[in-house]
Amino acid sequence: MLPDYDVIVVGAGHAGNEAAASAANMGSKVLLITMNMNTIGHMSCNPAMGGIAKGQIIREIDALGGFSGIVSDRSMIQFRMLNLSKGPAMWSPRSQNDRLLFHQEWRSILENTKNLDFWQDFVVGILVDKNRVVGVKTSLGMEVKAKTVILTNGTFLNGIIHIGEKQISGGRIGENASFGISEQLLKLGFESGRMKTGTPPRVDGRSLDYSKMEEQPGDVNPSKFSYSHTTKLKKQRSCHITYTNKRVHDILRTGFDLSPMFAGRIQGIGPRYCPSIEDKIERFSDRDRHQIFVEPEGWNTIEVYVNGFSSSLPEDVQLKAMRQMPGFENAKMFRPGYAIEYDYFPPTQLKNTLETKKIENLFFAGQINGTTGYEEAAAQGLMAGINAHLKINKQESFVLNRDEAYIGVLIDDLITKGTEEPYRMFTSRAEYRLLLRQDNADERLTPISHKLGLASDLRLVLLEEKYEKVYQLIKFIEKESVDPAIVNPILIEHNSSPLKQKVKLKSLLARPDISISLFYNSLPNLRLILDNLGDDKHEIIESVTIKIKYKGYIDREKEMADKLKRLDKLIIPPGFNFAKIVSLSTEAREKLLKIQPETLGRASRISGVSPSDISVLIVHLGR
Ligand code: FAD
Repeated sequence: MLPDYDVIVVGAGHAGNEAAASAANMGSKVLLITMNMNTIGHMSCNPAMGGIAKGQIIREIDALGGFSGIVSDRSMIQFRMLNLSKGPAMWSPRSQNDRLLFHQEWRSILENTKNLDFWQDFVVGILVDKNRVVGVKTSLGMEVKAKTVILTNGTFLNGIIHIGEKQISGGRIGENASFGISEQLLKLGFESGRMKTGTPPRVDGRSLDYSKMEEQPGDVNPSKFSYSHTTKLKKQRSCHITYTNKRVHDILRTGFDLSPMFAGRIQGIGPRYCPSIEDKIERFSDRDRHQIFVEPEGWNTIEVYVNGFSSSLPEDVQLKAMRQMPGFENAKMFRPGYAIEYDYFPPTQLKNTLETKKIENLFFAGQINGTTGYEEAAAQGLMAGINAHLKINKQESFVLNRDEAYIGVLIDDLITKGTEEPYRMFTSRAEYRLLLRQDNADERLTPISHKLGLASDLRLVLLEEKYEKVYQLIKFIEKESVDPAIVNPILIEHNSSPLKQKVKLKSLLARPDISISLFYNSLPNLRLILDNLGDDKHEIIESVTIKIKYKGYIDREKEMADKLKRLDKLIIPPGFNFAKIVSLSTEAREKLLKIQPETLGRASRISGVSPSDISVLIVHLGR
């Protein structure tokens, strides 16, 4: 009934949507199969995008021509740039989103994508012919043929939901789990594991007393994620902050006997950095309170997300405990928090394109690879979609290096180190985080993506226009000499030492606390340029400021990255027999044999492979 496709994407979550859109936009004929069209792009947990390191990933996806940034902008109800008090490597955009609108925007984008068909069904297995995937089987008994298949099943593979002693089969609350795929993959020789994640209760906003909480408004001048022509917010909704207390903790403790986690019913490993409230109380027993963010679920809904109160204790214990928090005395619950356990496939079984090593043309992306988070999933989906298209068309694969993008760090970490617990991105995972800033993702990635045929001509034009202005302003700042008589009053006002003679404007901007806009009124030539920067004025000034203030550090990171890149250029031939090299340590030999890294750089990042093992490999590869 259905025709043959170039790419079949299984699952319409964050990974699946980006995969389907990128492959289709590059020209592949794509079928997106998902069990429920009404949950396309559903946010399983908090209605928020971005945050530390994750905001950078959204900007990268956007710069590459993906859609998570655009969807986030169009469904945003609040925007904040996090970490502004730290250096620019740490600045991270974050939005609060309207959950329903987020889904609608994704669906509308996909429905308007050429080359993309939809089918609502459960995929129960893949079709394999001589170690190559050739399609999928569905619960309606259909067999659909395709040259490549991308699995993005999220938390659905043999998912089990836990609330107290109750165990319910499901991929998310109210949704069926997926059976068949894991079992078949195991038979094909894949390894799998179990992971766990959790979500907090949702409550009725009308039952809360916000006057007892701290208000957390959005930024005064809100920015956005996408470098394209999305609009900035004109009004925003505030979040609120409340705290747990001893009474909350005592009540929660009464449910510990029934906790699926403490009783050992949950076997899967959960995210350490995103613990449940019961976990926090146990692990940080000296703390007498924990911060709770009270987040609206959208523009026009009374539903509220209780961020920080993730729990799998019985629902009555959750409600009783929550009601002890200021502002929550009369809280009505819409639904309890819960934990979910699901299958994942250790990502060391993947190539750097996210194609599996065992079955040709089969790709995995998203939570199925042991990651957690919408942004991490979306990034993998985008890369899998691009690489599936390139593979079919016999084109060179597309891999991002660790100094090019957080997406490069993410995939390199996954395939070389694997992950024992749900992997989320942190800025600390990137060694070149000053290069991988949120402000310059377009400069780093749009030209590459345009060459690939994904980022549109319009994106490239916007980029060129923006950076023409950036470099024009830098040139002016480098050349312009400033007179002490003009700038000293400004410097003194900002506690910066006055000038004795003329200097270049550049040297003033290198000082901490001295910004370009301080000289707007006193330097007419500067004013002329600033007034002509257009809508992107704020972003252009930010980019110029970072490039000038941090030039020394940025250059040093670039140098280091170039040095280390040399190892990444040394290719290890496919099928290289590490077993034969007796001078490797046993641990290194075992890991290299298992992971089969494609380059020496990648081999060097595998835990247990020492610098002396790398020297041995260099000698052998040299031969
Ligand atoms: P998902 O968004 O799960 O999408 C999977 C898609 O595949 C769905 O559309 C589903 O219907 C479809 N599907 C699955 N199997 C089949 C099949 N056999 N046939 C057809 N369609 C199928 N992340 C965080 O960063 N922090 C958190 O605190 C957090 N808490 C979470 C709590 C819960 C309860 C859950 C469920 C998730 C949580 N997450 C959290 C994870 C976050 O939701 C995921 O990381 C993200 O959604 C993964 O995206 P994905 O595209 O891989 O999968």
